[in-house]
Amino acid sequence: MPSSLVRGKYVVCKVNDDSSSHVIEDGAVYQRDGEILDIGSYADLKARHNADEEIGSSNFAVIPGLINAHHHVGLTPFQLGALDAPLETWIVARWALRDVDPYLDTLYCAMQMIESGITTVMHNQMMARLPNDEGLFDSSARIIDAYQDSGMRVAFSLSHRDQNHLVYEDDERFFNTLPESLASGVRDYLGGRPISMEDHLSVTAELLDKKQSDRTRVFISPHNVHWCSDSMLREIKNFATRHSTGIHIHLQETVYQKMYGTRNWQKTPLAHLYDLGFLGPEVSCAHGVWVTESDMDILAETGTAICHNPSSNLRLKSGVAPVNRMLEKGVTVALGIDEAGLNDDNDILQEMRVAQKVHRVPGVTSASPSSHRILDMTTVNGAKVTFFGNEVGTLEIGKRADIVLVDLERIQEPYLDPGTNIVDALVYRGKGIDVNTVIVDGEVIMRDRKITRVKKEEISAKLKESLSRPLTAGELNRTGLSKELLPHIQRWFEGWELEVGAPHYHYNERG
Ligand SMILES: [Zn+2]
Repeated sequence: MPSSLVRGKYVVCKVNDDSSSHVIEDGAVYQRDGEILDIGSYADLKARHNADEEIGSSNFAVIPGLINAHHHVGLTPFQLGALDAPLETWIVARWALRDVDPYLDTLYCAMQMIESGITTVMHNQMMARLPNDEGLFDSSARIIDAYQDSGMRVAFSLSHRDQNHLVYEDDERFFNTLPESLASGVRDYLGGRPISMEDHLSVTAELLDKKQSDRTRVFISPHNVHWCSDSMLREIKNFATRHSTGIHIHLQETVYQKMYGTRNWQKTPLAHLYDLGFLGPEVSCAHGVWVTESDMDILAETGTAICHNPSSNLRLKSGVAPVNRMLEKGVTVALGIDEAGLNDDNDILQEMRVAQKVHRVPGVTSASPSSHRILDMTTVNGAKVTFFGNEVGTLEIGKRADIVLVDLERIQEPYLDPGTNIVDALVYRGKGIDVNTVIVDGEVIMRDRKITRVKKEEISAKLKESLSRPLTAGELNRTGLSKELLPHIQRWFEGWELEVGAPHYHYNERG
């Protein structure tokens, strides 16, 4: 692989602390074979190294590759027809969405992510049933192939559940509340081509064996605490320990999920995981919107991380995660888009801005994340939770060269106060469209906004073509069931009297 000298008006090497980052003005990074060998002033590096190629100029900010720490699909549920709704009903509304080819969908998504500067993603694949036309391994492998073809890094996991498929209650008990014909239709749908625990473990083991590479990690994923029996959680923990790999799980995303814990175990789901011996630094939890003070102590004590998804939480009426308090307590917090960014377009720079603004609780004494803290969440902490922590997340000698060049023209023109810190400028004003060039492991995977490894127009055209066919019998069946089932799901949750807890945030409580 050739060497290159990557130049910027600013090179943002790493975040120092809440109020500063290490930035080199008119700086450069020299990499060869994907390894960062030198970093410093452009003039010095230019004199010292005879690079095969020079990338960038004094019109760019050079930053570490950004990391989307929680994600699922490419075409968003909204694109496929589902409006935002509370998570519990939205899940069933999603049954009506069309089947999309996983390879094309993932590649489409990867291109969008690369276009906003994402070089690594935590991809969590939700598969309720075995695919119709291919095996579970092949279907999962095609998703990993799409990331590998795009050039991105991925931590891939297949999520699994073995209980409470419809509401937070035993399936049979819920079926008894449904009209008989609906119950039998839903039972047939859920019972057809189920994925067993054995399938899940054996396919994950095969993926670990055959698909891991320099840019690919394979994790294991129980879907969420209430959707998994204790024996399944124990088996997954043992599997991860045996294979020295990571665990990614959804956790306390909504108030109902937290209440499931107090109803069933008289403690939160996180406390239940703690008592099972499930937690640890290899575990990352998506959301944690409804974690309590003692939950946050457990997270900090065990080194368990939270992947924060603020746009998704706003869109699905989940709430606002107490990130200010998590940061105070030293919890590792990474940032994700969860297929539901505010503009529905997988723009991580926008998600960074949402994350920064949503925690600005009123009052002159209230702390909220600085731009530096947000950048740290999206680089160093993202690298940690995806198990690329020793390799990427900062621009330092010895690290792999995952580098993003952001065009400063739109951000700085016609005027931006020259005293503005570049990290503030990026988090306050940066958008995906400002990302010009993306490098992974020293390889340019987007240059001048053009994806280099695949033809974007071709992938989009194939995706469009694949969705121009009429709905299949399976899709029609699911759509009908979803429509009929939704009012029952809604009614079931209406029966829950919401717990009154101690909120961490007080937006309009005073005044
Ligand atoms: Zn998710």
